[in-house]
This record gives sequence, structure tokens and C-alpha cells, in this order.
Amino acid sequence: MVRIWGDLHVHTIASGHGYSTVLENVHVALRKGLKVLGIADHSPSMPGGPSPLYFEARGHFPKEIEGIRVYFGAEVDIVDFDGRLDLEDKVLRKLDFVIVSFHPQVFRGGTREENTEALLRALENPLVDIVAHPGNPRFPLDYNRVVEETVARGKVIEINNSSFSVSRKGSKENCRVIAREVEKRGGWVVVSSDAHFCEEVGEFREALGMLQEMQFPEDKILNASCENLIRFFENREGRES
Ligand SMILES: [Zn+2]
Ligand SMILES: [Zn+2]
Repeated sequence: MVRIWGDLHVHTIASGHGYSTVLENVHVALRKGLKVLGIADHSPSMPGGPSPLYFEARGHFPKEIEGIRVYFGAEVDIVDFDGRLDLEDKVLRKLDFVIVSFHPQVFRGGTREENTEALLRALENPLVDIVAHPGNPRFPLDYNRVVEETVARGKVIEINNSSFSVSRKGSKENCRVIAREVEKRGGWVVVSSDAHFCEEVGEFREALGMLQEMQFPEDKILNASCENLIRFFENREGRES
């Protein structure tokens, strides 16, 4: 199994339906040998989600806890067919990384074309870094176009471990198609746990298993290399963090 150094999609109690604190997540990450942890709570439109102030106040958030690098980001909802996000750029600029995604609680979804257009519009924002769980069958997408645009803009496609176990049933086949597209275009994927409880932190088995099964190039899995991960955060421009 490939060694993974960081988990960039971890929720805390601030998400409204997360069950662990930052510190609890850190402790599990340390125990599992991770060097990097990315906290990415849901954005304000999610029922029970944090207010924009939670993200704006990130100056309080440490860069390192007990020897592990911690990055403070958000999983930001796409709220409409114009691809609008529910956190303003001035807030996104303060974050270490920005994930975008669709959730049925926020975005009602439309045709494949409408969903694709919404996501492509969201990707126009240079502050967006990662597309989370695009394989969700609840929101059909033109994978060809989505991957083309993601890779062309130097952004990263997430292969979400929870999509294979806890949620978004039926994602696996779609994720395989998406990963194949990314490979073809020489782009990046990141494997993430999407942990909502601390013990899920660092769980990538099924996502990694799929990538290995299809012989996805290891050097294009962003978090399979500590150097690539650190570079990913260092190279992000236009941010205040
Ligand atoms: Zn959630
Ligand atoms: Zn999500």
C-alpha cells in the first residue's frame, strides 16, 4: 500500500454534523503516522454549519500542533447553477486551502449540463484548489470537461474514501472513470478520508485500493509525497495566510 502523509479533508464539530474536535483529530493523525492534517469544515449554507466568522478568525488557528503541520481550509458549497460559493473571496483568501463540492442540503442539482456548468464556473475562482467527491451519482457531471478544466487550472481532484463506504452510494464506478481522465491528462488526485469522527482520519484504504487496482501513477497522488504536499501549500498565490 502506498504511504499517505496527509489527510486534507477532515471535519470537526464546527461543521454541525462532525463529532470530534481539532485536537482529537490531531491525536488520531499522529497515532496513524500522518505528518500533515487539513481541517476543512463545511461552509455556512450547510445546516448547522459555522458562520463566516469561524473562517475569518483563523488567525487563532496554529500552524503546528504537537509536531504535526495543520492547515486550515474549508469545504465550500456551490450554491447555484452560476457556481456561486457561500464564502466571499475575502474570506477564502485567509484560508490555507479551499475545497468545493455539491451537497443535496444546499444545491438542488439539475441536469448533467447544469451541474457541469455550475462546477466549471466555480473552478474559475483561482482561490479554489480541490474538487471534492465529484463521483457522487446524485449530481451527474460531464467528467471529461470537469477533469479537463480542473487539470488545466492546476487544481486537484479528490478521491473520497467515505464515498466508498459511508455515503454517496454508487460513486465507485464514477470515481474510476474520473481517475482515468485525470491520469490521461497528467493531473493530480488527492485521497481523503472526509472524516466526521476522529477515528476516520487517515482512512484511505478503499480510495487507494481503487487507484492501485487501476495502476494510477503514484507520483500523481498529491498526498503520497510529503514534498509535493508542502509544495502545494507553498505555491498557492494571492492568499493572506
Ligand atoms: Zn459533512
Ligand atoms: Zn462533502
